[in-house]
Amino acid sequence: MAPVDRLQPKFVDYIPDDVEAGVLYVSRRFSTATHLCCCGCGHEVVTPLNPAKWSIAERDGRVSLTPSVGNWSFPCRSHYIVSDNRILWASSMSPEAIAAVRRRDIQDAVRLAPPRPSWVRRLLAGALVAWTSTVAAITRPWRK
Ligand SMILES: [Zn+2]
Repeated sequence: MAPVDRLQPKFVDYIPDDVEAGVLYVSRRFSTATHLCCCGCGHEVVTPLNPAKWSIAERDGRVSLTPSVGNWSFPCRSHYIVSDNRILWASSMSPEAIAAVRRRDIQDAVRLAPPRPSWVRRLLAGALVAWTSTVAAITRPWRK
């Protein structure tokens, strides 16, 4: 599959099983958006739309996603910004930088999560941080 340099938004209730390349499916109903990785690797990228994750802005039928899309868990590790349907390629990040972003994501997720007993929150944060360190350890061997 060839890389794409733009995404056409398609507003749907349900994300289809066959996600088409070059289309950004947006489901307001399920607060999520999905597209195929713009590098052309064919991996499906799911961007939940909520205050801890992504937000989508519409202008004259064109969409922008904030923040950038970083596909750290795919072999391609592509990183790009969707702005007015266009793909702006961003630089790739080091495993340390990726781990830092993940930690921030986890903190946001914990902070913005509905109130839970504090022991549940601590358990959750502990589990997620453990998982993040594992990912960092796994990604390290590929470093130059
Ligand atoms: Zn890719």
